Amino acid sequence: MKMLINGEFIDKEDKQNILNPFNGEVVDTVPIGDLGDAKYAIDSANLAKKSICDMSAKEVSNALYEACCELEEKSKKIAKLISLEVGKPYKHAIVEMQRSVETLKLSAEEAKRIYGESVPLDVAGSTDDKFYGFTKKIPLGVVGSITPFNFPVNLALHKIAPALAAKNTIVMKPSMEAPLSALKLAEILNNHFPKGVINAVTGYGSEIGDALVTSPDVDKISFTGSVATGLFISSRARGKKLTLELGGNDPLLVLEDANIQEAVKAAVSGAFSNSGQVCIGVKRIILDNKIADEFIDLFIKETKKLKIGNPLDKDTDLGPVIDENAAINIEESVNNAIKDGADLLYGGKRDNCFFEPTILDNVNMSMDLVANETFGPIAPLIRVNGVDEAIKVANDTQYGLQAGVFTENVNNALRCADEIVAGAVLINKASSFRADNMPFGGFKSSGMGKEGIKYAVEDMCKTKLIAFRQL
Ligand code: NAD
Repeated sequence: MKMLINGEFIDKEDKQNILNPFNGEVVDTVPIGDLGDAKYAIDSANLAKKSICDMSAKEVSNALYEACCELEEKSKKIAKLISLEVGKPYKHAIVEMQRSVETLKLSAEEAKRIYGESVPLDVAGSTDDKFYGFTKKIPLGVVGSITPFNFPVNLALHKIAPALAAKNTIVMKPSMEAPLSALKLAEILNNHFPKGVINAVTGYGSEIGDALVTSPDVDKISFTGSVATGLFISSRARGKKLTLELGGNDPLLVLEDANIQEAVKAAVSGAFSNSGQVCIGVKRIILDNKIADEFIDLFIKETKKLKIGNPLDKDTDLGPVIDENAAINIEESVNNAIKDGADLLYGGKRDNCFFEPTILDNVNMSMDLVANETFGPIAPLIRVNGVDEAIKVANDTQYGLQAGVFTENVNNALRCADEIVAGAVLINKASSFRADNMPFGGFKSSGMGKEGIKYAVEDMCKTKLIAFRQL
C-alpha cells in the first residue's frame, strides 16, 4: 500500500514488509517515509486548512456521514486486514469495525453541536459600558495523530474524526506494526474531504512521529501508545497541545459479596480478549480470600473453553500476539513471577508468537508482571482480605486508566467508585468496557486529556472571545 499526502498516493523505494504474526507471511508492504515526506504532509495539511474552514458545519457533518457509509460498506474487508496484520481474531476485528463506524457517526453528529456561549462582561467593576461578549470555538489548525497497533482503525478514528468535526486538518502516523487498515481508513476519508485535509505518512516513530511532535507547524499531537513513548513525546513537544492516552494496569476487584459467575465472565473476556493486548484489559484480578477458591475453580474451567488458533477462523478466541519479541517478553515476565513465588494454575507456554491464556495465583505487587503493564493474555491473581485492602492494592500502581469492581453491596460499590484512582470505575463490569461516546482517558501515568467524541471535539478547538461595546 502507499502513503497518502496531499490527495496523492505516494510510494518509495524503501519499503517495510508487514507480516502476519499467525504464520510470518508478508501481508503487504508500506513505504518507509522520511523527514521530507513528513514535511510535505505537514505543509499540505497547512495549505488545506482554508478548504475545510470554508465548509459549513453541515457540509463537514455530511462528509463524515458519507465516509461512515463507505467505511461500513468496506467493514468486512478491513476487518480481515486487521486480522492479518495484528493477528486479532476476525470476530473481534469485526467488532472494532462496528465501533469505528459508530465513532465516525458520533463525530458526524457532533460536528453540528459545536457551540460557543455568551459571556457577561458587565461584571467588570472597571466599566459601566454596555459590553457584550460571546465565544466562538475555532479549529486548532493541524492535528498530528500517532497511534498504536492494537486497535489500528478505531483508535485512529478517535483522533481524526473529532478533529475533522472541528474543522482541523490531519497528519496521521499509524503504527508500523499495523499500518494497512489505517491507510485504508485514510483513503476512505480522503474520498470525502478536499485534498490535503487528510494525510497519512508511514515510517518510524522516532522519525515521522518525532517530526510531527517537534514541528512548529503542527498545532496539536493526539497520541495513543505506551507510557514510555508518551513521556518522551511530552519532553519533545515543548508546550504544544497534547492528548496522551497511555498504558494501563487495570484491576478487577472481586469482593466477598460479588456475583461470582458474572465476575468470572468479565475476567475471561477482560484478561484474554485480543490476547491481552488491550490498554483497558484486566491486568490484575484482586480477589477477596473469602471467595478466591470458588472464583478460581470457575475461572480455570471457563478459560479452558477458549479456542486458540488462526485469527481468520470464525470461532477463534485467541490469536497470536503482535510479534515474537512481544511473546518472548511475556514469557520472561511470567517465568520471573513464578521464580519469585507465583503459582502457575493454567497455561504459561509460548509457541512462536502465540502465548497461552495464563492464570497465576499468589501474585504480589512487587513482581514485574503487575508492577508494569504486561501486554499479553495473563491473569495475575492477587489475594486480599476485605475491601480496604482491595482498594489499597488497586491503587498501588503508577497507572490509573479504568477499574472494574464486582460487588452487590452498594456501600462497597460507592467506596470503590470514590477511592480508586482511575479515569473510570465500572461497577459489575470489567475495565475493558468502552462506549465510544463516553469520556475516556486515564489518571496518573495513564495519560492526560479525554477522548470520547464530545470530549475530544472540545479538545480539538480553541476558544476565541469576541466583545461588543454599545456606543
Ligand atoms: P508504542 O508506544 O510503542 O507506539 C505507539 C506509536 O508511537 C506508534 O505509532 C509508534 O511508531 C509511535 N512512536 C514511537 N516512538 C515515537 C517517538 N519517538 N515519537 C513519536 N512517535 C513515536 O505503543 P504500541 O506498542 O504500538 O501499543 C501498545 C501500548 O499502547 C500499550 O502500552 C497500551 O496500553 C497503549 N494503548 C493505550 C490506549 C489508551 O487509549 N490509553 C489504547 C491502546 C493502546
